[in-house]
Amino acid sequence: MSTEPGSGPDSEPGSGPGSGPHTWDAIVCGAGVAGLATARALDLAGLRVLLLEKRRVPAPVAKGEVLQPSSVRILRDWGVLPMLLRRGAVPLGQLMIRDAHGRRLMLFDYRTIPGDDRQLYSLDYPEILAALRESLGEGVESWPGALVEEPIRDGGRVSGVRVSWRGRTRELAAPLVVAADGRSSRLRRSAGIETTSTEYPHRLLSFDIDVEGVPAAAPEVTTYLTGQGLRLAYPLPGRRMRLYAQVSPDALRGAGREHLERWCRELLDGTPALRPLEERLEGSLGSRQLLNLWRFTASVLAVPGLALVGEAAHCVHPMAAQGMNTAIADAEALARCLADRGFADRGFAARPSATAADRALEAYQAERSAWVRHMDRMSHDATRMITQLSRPGQAIGRRVLRRMDGNPRLRYQATYNMAGLGIRPFTALDRLHQLGLPDPRARRVPDWA
Ligand SMILES: Cc1cc2nc3c(=O)[nH]c(=O)nc-3n(C[C@H](O)[C@H](O)[C@H](O)COP(=O)(O)OP(=O)(O)OC[C@H]3O[C@@H](n4cnc5c(N)ncnc54)[C@H](O)[C@@H]3O)c2cc1C
Repeated sequence: MSTEPGSGPDSEPGSGPGSGPHTWDAIVCGAGVAGLATARALDLAGLRVLLLEKRRVPAPVAKGEVLQPSSVRILRDWGVLPMLLRRGAVPLGQLMIRDAHGRRLMLFDYRTIPGDDRQLYSLDYPEILAALRESLGEGVESWPGALVEEPIRDGGRVSGVRVSWRGRTRELAAPLVVAADGRSSRLRRSAGIETTSTEYPHRLLSFDIDVEGVPAAAPEVTTYLTGQGLRLAYPLPGRRMRLYAQVSPDALRGAGREHLERWCRELLDGTPALRPLEERLEGSLGSRQLLNLWRFTASVLAVPGLALVGEAAHCVHPMAAQGMNTAIADAEALARCLADRGFADRGFAARPSATAADRALEAYQAERSAWVRHMDRMSHDATRMITQLSRPGQAIGRRVLRRMDGNPRLRYQATYNMAGLGIRPFTALDRLHQLGLPDPRARRVPDWA
């Protein structure tokens, strides 16, 4: 990857809209996981990519830490997996839903799914970004500190972006622009692409806990269902643990130390399975972050000249661990559509055309929209079940989980969907089996498996 080259946009003949040959085949806006994954996929396809990112260093936030098997497969194909492992990515064989005492409600057993990748990995988001960044080749030019202001157009088509960089505003052209600028994407809004966004009624408090010396927890992602809501925990590299706790929006507003310590004690009283962490949780209070949670899907994933990837296109509740994974799959799908439509053909002497880009964008929209809708539905259904606070809602949720746990067919299907291997939603009949209707096929793997 090249960064801030001497031959910057001032000296580039192709940097004005519609002005002769393009300097870059694609401009990727935003260098979160979606932007970096897209840059990697396009780089591997032999395209010249400009990567624009408004921040100079990634924000130190807790998000996007659990990689599903579908992403692990893609990252291995891209040569990124060894870089994640060097950074300490932790393998986790299962996702377990437990009650507050740690008793099993339902197991998502990744060892049962097809393919070579049968585990999750956890790693800090900035480390995942660093691994992707390290994998970028010479075909990617990166401008840290470049704020994308809006798309520029040629007729109705997006043909570049207006960018503020090093104190100057510039207009940059390319046959393809990729909006990877996150949840409140300026590019999506300026392109007039609509979303209907819903905010979840709860928040998540996240803790980064040092567990050196504490008896090792199981190598799994554990979701505890408690009377006060969801608690979710998994190991991170360096003998650390991530803990998320569901809280009401104003639970800890303006809380002082004493209030926070009391809240910790209540959390542990309500989740006896987490008691071994007692001292460590109080010690990690300073690491806490409070997160608002949103759900939306953009009305379209592409318009002529512009593709949306990652949270610019879709946002789901984080506790099903799908957002980052869907972003990585977006990048792979976009690169494949571009290659299939002749945009990224290395054999061409000519550079990719806007016409080929638009054909590929139509294919991307057709291929990804069903997937994105499926991820949205699945994440939302899972969230509703595990964040219920009413007694009847919790009782039904636990019943459904126990029924699924005792039904290997439904358990396999749920794990397959979570792993990101395909779109296999539950049918109306499956839902009745979840509620208690006997299932004669319970012991058979699904017909499609
Ligand atoms: C608490 C939490 C836990 C999560 N856990 C998981 C998990 O375990 N597994 C999972 O798959 N997903 C998880 N997610 C979701 C995942 O983090 C997101 O889906 C993912 O980070 C989205 O990546 P992105 O690149 O689309 O957006 P971002 O990571 O938000 O990146 C967008 C980038 O664009 C840049 N940018 C924005 N505007 C501009 C501009 N105008 N010009 C230039 N640059 C710009 C930003 O600075 C940023 O770097 C979690 C989310 C949260 C909140």
